[in-house]
Amino acid sequence: MSTPRVRFAPAPSGSLHVGNARTALYNWLHARGNGGTFVLRVEDTDAERATPEGYEATLAALRFLGLEWDEGPEVGGPYGPYRQSKRQSLHEAVATALLEAGYAYEAFETREELEAEREAAQAQGRPPGYQGGHRDLTDAQRESFRAEGREAVVRLRTPDEGELVFTDVIRGEVTFAWKDVPDFVILRADGSPTYPLAAGVDDLAMGITFIARGEDLLSTTPRQILLADHVLDEGLLDRVLEAEGYAPRPDVERPRYAHLPLLVGEDRKPLSKRHGAVAVAEFRRQGFLPDVLANFLALCGWSYDDRTERFTVPDLIAKFSFDRVGSNPAFFDVDKLRALNGDRIKELDPAELADDLEPYFVEEGLLDQPPSAAQRQLLHDLAPLLQERIQTLAEAAPLVDWCFADEVAYEDKAVDKHLRKGRADEVLDAADAVFTELDDWDAESIMAVLDEVSERLGIGRGKTFQPVRVAVAGKAVSPPLPETLAVLDRGLVLDRIRSAKQLLGA
Ligand code: GLU
Repeated sequence: MSTPRVRFAPAPSGSLHVGNARTALYNWLHARGNGGTFVLRVEDTDAERATPEGYEATLAALRFLGLEWDEGPEVGGPYGPYRQSKRQSLHEAVATALLEAGYAYEAFETREELEAEREAAQAQGRPPGYQGGHRDLTDAQRESFRAEGREAVVRLRTPDEGELVFTDVIRGEVTFAWKDVPDFVILRADGSPTYPLAAGVDDLAMGITFIARGEDLLSTTPRQILLADHVLDEGLLDRVLEAEGYAPRPDVERPRYAHLPLLVGEDRKPLSKRHGAVAVAEFRRQGFLPDVLANFLALCGWSYDDRTERFTVPDLIAKFSFDRVGSNPAFFDVDKLRALNGDRIKELDPAELADDLEPYFVEEGLLDQPPSAAQRQLLHDLAPLLQERIQTLAEAAPLVDWCFADEVAYEDKAVDKHLRKGRADEVLDAADAVFTELDDWDAESIMAVLDEVSERLGIGRGKTFQPVRVAVAGKAVSPPLPETLAVLDRGLVLDRIRSAKQLLGA
């Protein structure tokens, strides 16, 4: 058996959906784990939906996840071009060859006629598919339709009876009755190929041996298998490839299929925007780490031993296999993703975490681009304090924005609750004095003098810490106070305590 050649074939109409990202990941893991080749083919034939932004976003999302491709756009390879829009003349030439060989025919029905046919079928309780009305037109009939100004689509003939049985790697034997598969359009009236033709031809021309894709495409599989039967018959495709100047097909077996289970939300409905974020870019913005997202997506449909949940990418490459992918819908459990991400953040080397956090802090305007050495140092000092308290990278900035700001922004609620109540003014006076006199500005000493203040005033630690925290941070939640204060400049801390006192005096 040859090594697998797999492909990911996104339609670049927007940002990459996590369901498609999982498809890409499974294909990539299969290739990487079996010495195979991962091909990226961008299916951008729908000119209205395929935008340059969608193309860039798709590639960026794959790169973010680390799913580098061996052949494809911007990388090249022997079986290109890898953007489907650039292969249209090949698809047209195959359609023409199928017409000449009698596997396909021109059909001239107008939209209205097809609609009427559908309605009639519905009224009679028949399935709505095309009835094959123009299957056997004579040359004269075709000429007269053309003379009327009608335009033809090209349809592939499907068998009238019998069954197609194929083995899906995930679902086992799958059977389709041919009577349920109407003759289908392969070339539209404007000469553009439809998805079953373009994808079917390209899979063969690129020597794809294994096709893992979403189960929503299962119904197109009989069409692609039938198409493959015809274009491989008597070297039809090989002749067209040669005539059109394409590389000969690699000498590999025909593709097998694996249809991946749907991703669903908590309500068991297909995962969509209603459930929250669904684009890889959105998860990136929220601060999920790429290897955690890959780990999590791998678990959406695959399991290793029903227990292990944490896998590094090399682990996944070593352990992933399609025989442990189930056919049941896979629950996209965002809480589990958050937990995995939080666990991973805790394990990161703090310096690595600081580097990962940097773009999020730049984005929030807390750091310059590029950050100054002092800003970078501050972030590195804060990283170990943040590590235990965040599940995503984006959660960090709001906890420590006040450490980077020139002026503290006081939250009214925190001021009312912790500064305008109790003995906050006494606490701030005392903190001002003990901080000023402190020999060593470090967490332990700060903790010790704050505890002294509590004792002296006869109040609990919270009643001391909270006023100081709100005075310096402007809010009631922050990483541990003594450690955070120790990271900051003492002068800045004192300035803020004094500003808070003024605020109270005002
Ligand atoms: N381009 C198709 C899509 O994005 C997928 C094609 C395939 O995997 O066969 O839905």
